[in-house]
Order: sequence, then C-alpha cells, then structure tokens
Amino acid sequence: MRANSQHSRQKAAYLSEHTLSGFLKTRRKFSAALRCLLYSAHRRVAPLGNAGPFVSFSFDDFPRTAYTVGGSILRSFGVRGTYYVAMGLMNTSNALGDQFHMEDLCLAAKDGHELASHTFGHTSSHGIPLSRFLEDVRKGRRAITETGSFPATANFAYPRGEVTLSAKQAVGREMLSCRGIYGGFNGPLVDLNLLRANSLYGDIDRLNTVERLLRENQSRKSWLIFYTHDVRFNPSPYGCTPEFLESVVHLAVKGGAKVLPVAEVLTYGST
Ligand SMILES: [Zn+2]
Repeated sequence: MRANSQHSRQKAAYLSEHTLSGFLKTRRKFSAALRCLLYSAHRRVAPLGNAGPFVSFSFDDFPRTAYTVGGSILRSFGVRGTYYVAMGLMNTSNALGDQFHMEDLCLAAKDGHELASHTFGHTSSHGIPLSRFLEDVRKGRRAITETGSFPATANFAYPRGEVTLSAKQAVGREMLSCRGIYGGFNGPLVDLNLLRANSLYGDIDRLNTVERLLRENQSRKSWLIFYTHDVRFNPSPYGCTPEFLESVVHLAVKGGAKVLPVAEVLTYGST
C-alpha cells in the first residue's frame, strides 16, 4: 500500500515536472516565432552605410539617476545619450526610484542629450485597442514639445518593449524610428520600425557578455544600442550600477565606436 502511494507521488511529480517543462518549451518556441514574425513584417529598412561601428546608450522612462548618475558618466567621456521620456511619469516614484523632474529634462537637453518619446502614460501596446495606444504615443510626444523648452525627436521606444504587429505598422508610419528590447545588432540594413536594443542590467559581473557584444559590433561595423533605467549602487532589476555603466562606456569609446544618440546615428553623414 505504502509502495503504491509512493509510486503515485513519484508519478505525479514526474508528470507535473514534464508538463511544466513542456509548457515552458512551447512558450519559448512561441516567443521565438513571434519575434521572427515581428522582425519580418512591416519592415522599413534603411542601410546603415559604412561609417560604423556606432554605439548608443539609452535610458527609458526615466528615473532621476539615469540623468544625475548616468548622464554624468556619459559627460565624463564626452559623449551623449538618448532619453526615452514618458511625460506622465514626471515627479512620480516607483521601483526604479524617483522619476525625472522638469529640471532633469532641462539639464539633459542642455547637455545635448536626445529627448525621445515613450508614450505619455508608459502604456503597453498589448491588451488595448490600437487607437488608444496611438493616442498615448502622440500625447507623449506632444507633451515633451508642449513644455516649450525643447523639441522631442521623432524617435520612440515601446514601453516594456511590448509591440504588436499592428502597432509596429501604425507607429512606424509616424516616427523616424521605433526601438524595442529584442537584442542584437542593427545593420547593415536597419529596420527603423523595430530597432534592436540590448539591456544593460545588473553589475560589473556582466561586463564580459557586453564586451563580446562590443567586439562583434566592431567587426561587423554595425550599430549597438543599449538601454537601461536607474543607475545606482543598488539598482532595480531593470537598472545597473554606475561602475557597470562606466566600464561599458569606457570600452565603447576605447574600441573606437562612434558613441552617439539614436537621432544622430540616423542622420549621420547627411548634414
Ligand atoms: Zn519604459
């Protein structure tokens, strides 16, 4: 009797483990297929040319430390980045820390950083009608311009990197570029409707991985975009430490890449 119940428990554990692993495998296959579809549909392709390699550092939302700490790291190397701003987050606070204040926007613009948009309310394109998403995309860009102090560029990043096929097509028509969070290199052909970007999360122990990306970017002469959020000693899971950011910027500059905001890579050589 005891042997039987032990056998049943083992069988149940086996089944649940295998059902879970089957589910995870299916989910992984599904996300890979979705990513493939997102990359192959509604493309708006432009050649990168042969002026690379380029590297862009971008900060999403953005938490104050992205400017106060991240911005000063970039400044110390004489380079500038792109801030994807969601104006509805101004003066709020969340797990990423205090979000930007108006003075951070002004100082970031004065330092020559790019102010790009990220919807108004940090809205995901998932689970809402396309028309409502588009409304928030437009409102976000307008809100930056309506501050009267600085223009928003026509570059955009999808909140949480969540993009649908219909959003890719519709937002792509209104923006110069749209950035996601799928990793990889941009070029030799760049899909302006879904720029690839790589996370800079965590601490210096991840430097080797990033160093490999930078080396490959150099040999491909392509364009590597990084994104992160808060930059502080105890970052959120979506941010990084100052030491990590500083080391990556140092490697990018030392490797001879042109480190520029997204807008300047897109217009490089045309002015
Ligand atoms: Zn965001």
